[in-house]
Amino acid sequence: MKHFLTSLAALLLFYSVEAQGHARTKHLFVITIDGFRWQEVFTGADPSLVANEEYVRDTALMRSLYWDSTAGLRRKKLLPFFWGTIAVQGRLYGNRLLGNKVNVRNWYKISYPGYNEIFTGHTDAFSSPNLPVNNKHVNVLEYLNRSEEYKGKVAVFTSWNVFPYILNESRSGLPVNSGYERLNEDQYPEAGLIDSVQNTMRPGKTRHDMLTYLTAREYIREHHPSVLFLGFGETDECAHSGRYDLYLQQASDLDRMISDLWYYVQTDPYYKDSTTFLITTDHGRGWKTNKWTTHGFWAEGSGDIWMAVLGPDIRPEGELRAKGQVYQKQIAATIATLLGDPPAPGHPPGKAIGFPARPRPAGLALTPAPDGFSAAR
Ligand SMILES: [Zn+2]
Repeated sequence: MKHFLTSLAALLLFYSVEAQGHARTKHLFVITIDGFRWQEVFTGADPSLVANEEYVRDTALMRSLYWDSTAGLRRKKLLPFFWGTIAVQGRLYGNRLLGNKVNVRNWYKISYPGYNEIFTGHTDAFSSPNLPVNNKHVNVLEYLNRSEEYKGKVAVFTSWNVFPYILNESRSGLPVNSGYERLNEDQYPEAGLIDSVQNTMRPGKTRHDMLTYLTAREYIREHHPSVLFLGFGETDECAHSGRYDLYLQQASDLDRMISDLWYYVQTDPYYKDSTTFLITTDHGRGWKTNKWTTHGFWAEGSGDIWMAVLGPDIRPEGELRAKGQVYQKQIAATIATLLGDPPAPGHPPGKAIGFPARPRPAGLALTPAPDGFSAAR
């Protein structure tokens, strides 16, 4: 009898932790910062690069903007939203200096395979890995868009114009606005204004992130999607051009945009306290001073990435200090799980990353769940 009661208590505890675990997230925004390294996320401006005249036009000015005596102060200067808000209210995975690791699992460590891994959970071989070729896999956004609950409530805004292929827009039917694609909405004047600015730009593969952000924000304001993917791209562009100064400036701008979006979400009754942000990157970059501009199979460090989560079900712990390992290919299943795993055809493979439940209000406290690392696979 005693054994039975203990098992029953354990079972009840399990279900209450599960139930409270992902009960409040109704909306999920996935945000990616292309090729942004964990080194800058966790230690701010890199001492070997910020004063390097090969990569920075005005080293004195860069130092006055982003340099400080400790990594803790530098990262705050570079990414005030990450270290002022996410570090207090959310969780940051991937500080390898503490043995906390996030890695990509695909061989290539470039963009298409990285986004494929994030959104489909697959790490397969590609013959032409970065070209605009339709993806054969069902992605998690498409999966959610096929579910009762999220049908017609999913939207995608990206700077890089290959996403319509990565997410197979023509098959999936997801609304994907990429590159210098107009919003084409005449119902509200702001969209027309942004479109008219886009028309003046010289078309390229990657739209200015600010325009991607403003386009998405107007859409969010007007349509209130429940699942949003916002893909930023200029950090990778600046890094490939060897401009560490512009890479830092762009990262700092993106931190500000994400902060603006979080503020918007938390002051809109539709989204407030029911929206989770999951922020990550498609790949890392070389860790050596002469290799940071590039990434791929041959550039050591390109598979090392990071992830941040913030939302009503996420127990705040800031920077995770425990040793652990999660993989990019777990993110697709994690996205579905955070939204309560609504049933639909084509569930993404991979084991979702488990987040420890947020404690209940005083008086109802439960034993803390184990830390959020799932077994590596
Ligand atoms: Zn790149």
